[in-house]
Amino acid sequence: MGKLQKAVLIRTVVPIMLMGIVIALFASNRYEKMLYEQMKPMLSMTASSVMAVYDELYEGDYVLKGDGQFSLYKGEQELTGDFEIIDRISAEAGVEITLFYKDARILTTLKDAEGERYVATGVNSVIYRAIERDPQVQYYNVEIDGVEYYACYVPMMHSDGTLVGMIGVARQSDQISEVVLKTLEPIWLIILFCMVLAGYISVNYTKGLVDGIQHIRDFLQRMTRGDLNYMMNSRILKREDEIGDAGRSVVAMQKAVRILVERDPLTTLYNRRYGTVKLKKIQAQAARCGLSYAVAMGDIDYFKKVNDTFGHEVGDSVLIRVAEQLKRAVVGKGFACRWGGEEFLIVLEGLDRKEAMETLTQMLQNIRSIGIPCQGQEIRVTMTMGLVDGCLSDDHEELIRMADDRLYYGKEHGRNRIVTNMDEDAGSFDMYDMENIKEMLSQTEYELSEMSKDLYQFGTEDVAEALELQLMDGEKEEKDPMELNRMVEEIVRNMAEKFFREIEEDEEDGASESEETMHEEAKDKSGEETD
Ligand code: GH3
Ligand code: MG
Ligand code: MG
Repeated sequence: MGKLQKAVLIRTVVPIMLMGIVIALFASNRYEKMLYEQMKPMLSMTASSVMAVYDELYEGDYVLKGDGQFSLYKGEQELTGDFEIIDRISAEAGVEITLFYKDARILTTLKDAEGERYVATGVNSVIYRAIERDPQVQYYNVEIDGVEYYACYVPMMHSDGTLVGMIGVARQSDQISEVVLKTLEPIWLIILFCMVLAGYISVNYTKGLVDGIQHIRDFLQRMTRGDLNYMMNSRILKREDEIGDAGRSVVAMQKAVRILVERDPLTTLYNRRYGTVKLKKIQAQAARCGLSYAVAMGDIDYFKKVNDTFGHEVGDSVLIRVAEQLKRAVVGKGFACRWGGEEFLIVLEGLDRKEAMETLTQMLQNIRSIGIPCQGQEIRVTMTMGLVDGCLSDDHEELIRMADDRLYYGKEHGRNRIVTNMDEDAGSFDMYDMENIKEMLSQTEYELSEMSKDLYQFGTEDVAEALELQLMDGEKEEKDPMELNRMVEEIVRNMAEKFFREIEEDEEDGASESEETMHEEAKDKSGEETD
């Protein structure tokens, strides 16, 4: 039993127990008093009837006769030693009867342990004095030889109205207590039953609470140990009380902590730390089950230029849009994480090289088609990727390094492509093989920004023209694709630089023009004022 359970148990059972004791004591006290009250007329009537029997049987007053040894008479009848009448009435009424001359017991049914009657003994002087003072029926609790009695004393009077003695009728108090106890027995049982019931209910109810609290505590302990995948018991989450609220809050906290710990705040992709953890997990799983997986490292091409031209904030929204495409492409296939800056790690599970290549090609295509309108233009970006098969190494760092090498090889050899093999496939880049270039160059409406690195749109006719100028007749078909790529790159770079230069010059011209206009306007204004 938990501490909380014990505390609740004590706090429910103890008050019920105390309340029960108070009720029982109060009830027994009242009941006892009531019994004594009910007994009073019976005792006094018995005393009166004893007196009436003597008056009926023997005429005359009570007198004490004899010298030396006195004996009590009623008229002519000696009463001393004649126990028959009081014994009979005592047996019928179930009470003890004593006939006192003054305060001395003359006849009595009271006997000691040996069966000897308590004759010639005296009553408590307080009782007799009280009867002397006020010769009325009086009731006392008395103790005779260690036995408690409730007794009624009725004064016996001479015909001249003087006091002779008294008739005492008593009943053992034990008998009354027994009756009280017997009567209160069911009350005690009810109290006991209530205590057990309350205890059972509180223990059962608190068990649910304690279980919930313990589960939430375990949950938090695991979280502090770094386990952010522990599931909250659904029973707690379904509760509609404070425990349920606490459970839901803790789950929300776990989610928030997971986001903080595992996600990149800008793109909401996994961060590098968690990406590494996930890669290691996939690697271990692949080693166990022989599952194939692929690791790719992607980097946005010429991203610095986006920042430099449009500002960091626009750069951020480009990163967000690119991340969206990465997320979309890996759904159900693996995960993508922001490795740093504009670099992303993509891990694809259960796909062979061809399937991984297809997924990543589609991914790059989607990235190319992102158009972010800005300053009257549409920003377009491309990405270069290095791809490795998971089976190439057991070491995740080695795999990442290999993907990185391929990525930088791709950067050096034209960008906007996926590099899987630096030796064998050196010339067969996806985007820049001869077929692609031919096709691209033949489509006059094709926009260079989709083909290559730049953010701006150029007519491919210009590129084709420039390329034709640099190549001899027929040389294009024989040229090494890599060489051709480099030539296209060079042409595009020159065109882009020229384009930017023109923009900058336009801006400068615009700025100086507006300055001049402002100057002239100011001049006009001052002229007007002087006029
Ligand atoms: P390359 O094709 O060779 O990769 O050229 P690049 O310009 O993309 O590469 P470079 O490494 O020269 O520049 C990367 C830029 O990415 C530099 C940095 O300012 C920018 N960058 C990194 N992180 C962020 C970011 O969180 N937000 C923005 N807006 N820019 C970022
Ligand atoms: Mg880059
Ligand atoms: Mg980079």
